[in-house]
Amino acid sequence: MKAAVLDAPKKISAKEVPMPTVTDNTVLLRVKACGICGSDMKFYNYGDRVKKFPHILGHEVAGEVVEVGKGAGKFSVGDRLAVANEIPCKSCPSCRRGFESVCDNILGVVGVSVNGGFAEYMLMNEDLVRQGPVNRMPDNISFEEGALAEPLGCVVNGLEFANMEEGKDVLVIGTGPIGCMAISLARILGASKITAADKNPMRLDMARAFGADHYIYAENEYISEAIGVTNGKGYDVVMSACSDISAHQNAIMASAKGGFVNLFGGVAKGLPDTVSFPSNFIHYRQSAIGGSFSQTKDHHGKALKYLASGMIKTKKIITHRFALDEIEMAMEAVQNAKGLKVMLIP
Ligand SMILES: [Zn+2]
Ligand SMILES: [Zn+2]
Repeated sequence: MKAAVLDAPKKISAKEVPMPTVTDNTVLLRVKACGICGSDMKFYNYGDRVKKFPHILGHEVAGEVVEVGKGAGKFSVGDRLAVANEIPCKSCPSCRRGFESVCDNILGVVGVSVNGGFAEYMLMNEDLVRQGPVNRMPDNISFEEGALAEPLGCVVNGLEFANMEEGKDVLVIGTGPIGCMAISLARILGASKITAADKNPMRLDMARAFGADHYIYAENEYISEAIGVTNGKGYDVVMSACSDISAHQNAIMASAKGGFVNLFGGVAKGLPDTVSFPSNFIHYRQSAIGGSFSQTKDHHGKALKYLASGMIKTKKIITHRFALDEIEMAMEAVQNAKGLKVMLIP
């Protein structure tokens, strides 16, 4: 089969690799679409969480079951599945408290410690089949939309963790695919005022399709401008949807009293990630600063329901499609933020 293989950081190419063998309790998926994520760029550039090469990236996967091993009867040939990444143990203290994405004994991570969806076929191993973040896709969504359930699931987790509720004012910093989905979901969840900011004018422009109330070009004093939109109150929910620590720093200063700032974007391992802020500012506003990471199977399932509702403008989110042979071009499109979501169609 063909796959895009990462042989070392910054060395990726499409090549023929052996077809995975279906054994007991495993399932073979014909990958129909796989999104490329900001985190894939960290793995591509630095290795980061990927420790073993050669490796096949891709954790925003949707496909069709083509072969089912003995004992994996919960799935059948022809099932349309969406797959996310972290495979939790379901028994450690973190899992038992519902924080499966930060499991203490993670069993594997699709596209990180086990081969992912940048390939014609992906073997779902025993752990993934048994208790991984795998959900059946609603009939009315396409495979590309199914692949979007992974990043959207992260947004579902991010907004739930930040106590998003009807009537709250929301600030989204960074209008990449995650930021645009955060705007959409905040609207669905009944946000009062939504402000979006980005320092990339092209991306800010693309985000206009998602229906925030205010769009702010993120230069110099943009955070005061964003706060001004709320007449100085600040935002009940702030999502810093980029891996830029200056965005995180600004996000904290935009919090309303009782607000929640989600430092959503992870910074690549090895790069400076220290953010400093005046503690009194947070104290005297009774604000909270948190960070959400990835998602659980439940968040992923909710994301599929939102996608099936048609309320997420998926056609505006997916701006680029590439074949496996075009992997270098695809990575370049993500690296240079050329559009929003880039899909591989293996
Ligand atoms: Zn992702
Ligand atoms: Zn666990």
